[in-house]
Amino acid sequence: MRAWVVEEPAPIASGPLRRADREVPAPGPGELLVRVLACGVCRTDLHVAEGDLPVHLPGVTPGHEIVGEVAEAGPGCLHRPGDRVGVAWLRGTCGACRFCRRGAENLCPASVYTGWDAHGGYAEYATAVDAYAYALPAELDDVRAAPLLCAGIIGYRALRRAELPPGGRLGIWGFGGSAHLAAQIALAEGAEVHVFTRSPAARELARELGASWAGDSFEAAPAPLDAAILFAPAGELVPAVLERLDRGGTCAVAGIHLSDIPVLDYQRHLFQERQLRSVTANTRADGEEFLTLAARLDVAVTTHAYGLDEADRALADLAGDRFAGAAVLVP
Ligand SMILES: [Zn+2]
Ligand SMILES: [Zn+2]
Repeated sequence: MRAWVVEEPAPIASGPLRRADREVPAPGPGELLVRVLACGVCRTDLHVAEGDLPVHLPGVTPGHEIVGEVAEAGPGCLHRPGDRVGVAWLRGTCGACRFCRRGAENLCPASVYTGWDAHGGYAEYATAVDAYAYALPAELDDVRAAPLLCAGIIGYRALRRAELPPGGRLGIWGFGGSAHLAAQIALAEGAEVHVFTRSPAARELARELGASWAGDSFEAAPAPLDAAILFAPAGELVPAVLERLDRGGTCAVAGIHLSDIPVLDYQRHLFQERQLRSVTANTRADGEEFLTLAARLDVAVTTHAYGLDEADRALADLAGDRFAGAAVLVP
């Protein structure tokens, strides 16, 4: 089968993704073999390709927003051949540690991830753990469902972690695949959304989706914010975000990777009970909640389709902010 692999992580300009011809994998007990129908391109794939994340599996195939059809089910699976499933970043957890037992499986120290610890969806086939594969609402077609599986779910968790009060004012920094989905949930729940991004195309998309204000990353906010989500992986934005929060406001950092945060000034940035917190992966409950909500609210997913053979270009375009919304590979 056709697949892309990261042989040696390197800056995207030097082409760390290589084409490979791999055997179609065989599903083990509790595993599914999934024929990839669509796979979203996520910023985390860029971090895997460029080495911002340490290598967990040499020669890994990235991709963790997989919409696929079950081609084969190993022993003990609930999904059956022919089922359409979503395969996301969280591939598996131990199920026994104190985090798993208290409903925080996203913090499981033994968790493993699709497209990092195991081969992902930049390929014609991938395996998935049956218990971690999502059933997908029929309203969501393949291409539209793909970005929901990471961008959507993580954005949703980030929104919950930002603890936006009802009817509150939410600031969003960076407006790519994840942000444009979280913004729609926030708007549907009655929030006022302000978007800060260096990309003029993304500012336009933000206004189209209903943001009441969109400006550049360091622009002054029209009014103090009750909550903020930092989607841009840029630590230098953290002081700017915190300064724009009202008393008691929370900033959730959505990314798995962030460049260094400059020195903070306690009075200017944190006093008055402002909070800075991270978002780490998601639980299956987050995923199920979000997918149901996304189908019910009929969220608009702005996608740019690329052929499977164009994965390297899709990732380079993501790095260069050359499209608004989310890129999706279609084999
Ligand atoms: Zn665990
Ligand atoms: Zn992702």
